[in-house]
Amino acid sequence: MRSEEIHQRRVAAVARGVGSTLSAYIDHASGGTLTDVDGRDWIDFAAGIAVTSVGNSAPRVVEAVRRQVERFTHTCFMVAPYEAYVAVCEQLNELTPGGFEKRSALFNSGAEAVENAVKIARYHTRRPAIVVFDHGYHGRTNLTMALTAKNMPYKNGFGPFAPEIYRAPMSYPLRDGLDGPAAAARAIDMIEKQVGASNVAAVLIEPIQGEGGFVVPAPGFLPALAAWTRDAGAVFIADEIQTGFCRTGDWFASSHEGVEPDLVTTAKGIAGGLPLAGVTGRTSIMDSVHLGGLGGTYGGNPIACAAALATIETMRELDLAAAALHIGSRITTRLSALNHPAIAEVRGRGAMIAVELPDADVTALVVRDCHANGLLVLTCGTYGNVLRFLPPLVMPDDVLDRGLDILTTALQSVSK
Ligand SMILES: *Cc1c(COP(=O)(O)O)cnc(C)c1O
Repeated sequence: MRSEEIHQRRVAAVARGVGSTLSAYIDHASGGTLTDVDGRDWIDFAAGIAVTSVGNSAPRVVEAVRRQVERFTHTCFMVAPYEAYVAVCEQLNELTPGGFEKRSALFNSGAEAVENAVKIARYHTRRPAIVVFDHGYHGRTNLTMALTAKNMPYKNGFGPFAPEIYRAPMSYPLRDGLDGPAAAARAIDMIEKQVGASNVAAVLIEPIQGEGGFVVPAPGFLPALAAWTRDAGAVFIADEIQTGFCRTGDWFASSHEGVEPDLVTTAKGIAGGLPLAGVTGRTSIMDSVHLGGLGGTYGGNPIACAAALATIETMRELDLAAAALHIGSRITTRLSALNHPAIAEVRGRGAMIAVELPDADVTALVVRDCHANGLLVLTCGTYGNVLRFLPPLVMPDDVLDRGLDILTTALQSVSK
């Protein structure tokens, strides 16, 4: 088997700390299936972690990338600027929640976007403290490791971490039983007592937690927190890196509760698989930073920008926000109908759905069964006991249903 041969080479060449969910090596992929070098197929419920929402090799993206590669691959926007960067910023300013005037800056990865949002918030407020939440995930760089909650595998042994990061309790309805306002009051009390409102530069939160377990906060939690943050003179940052770009059935998840973040970080689904990230927000905050204070060699690379523009066009044309709602309700209907005793909760929004299972061992069994039978699924959650589903938003119903057949069979096998 070719995959096995490549794997031997990998073991001898690739650092052990870099893991892979699947043991097979991919040859090609489309809007819903991955095919390995031996011709085996997997239905894709991962989308490269919520990245290929428009599918792998979406026609518009392929064409836009091809055209851009032929024109130029890189000049560095800080050296010799080009239109596509400006056009992506225009799109971000228009699509992110909030009717106010905005500016954007582009980067390479989600972690880099979060780092820059923190830089901007600190510069603007001249305050040090950043408030984050239990189960939160914001990346793997030094600052974003400090912002991320979970020790293994993200932080263990990699410290010391950046200072002035404070962790507040998250609203986690299944586990805390609190309504949104009560959960917000609990978090705010912690911030006021342990950090002090006047020290807070930013409150940074995922509107629905990704790696942390697809935790959807109780209604009212996010609006209350955003209101408190504004009153405190701090910056409310929504990390929409996983939830953004139609994934939850709207362009951005903050909109489901009418929350208008001061800053929004984006990445993952933005560019059809090419590395691109952004920070978008109020002009008064974004433009407080001195000239030259933001940037990076590759940030807003022209190929990635061309891909982003084609991705956004595809999302508009195919109405992928509606597709996300359709996919989500199809998944939820199937899983709820199972009435499975091991499922503690089916939750999520749009095509960002998870099931919480009793423990990590049961979850690993289901995952193994799915992978053996041709379905790629991911886990998440602080306790490793959450299965998450992030299919490409262009996945046809028949492929989705075949994936759900494999999934439900795998789930039924663990209850026996
Ligand atoms: C994936 C993710 C990040 C980090 O993005 P990278 O591109 O992996 O650096 C940050 N925040 C959230 C919510 C994410 O899901």
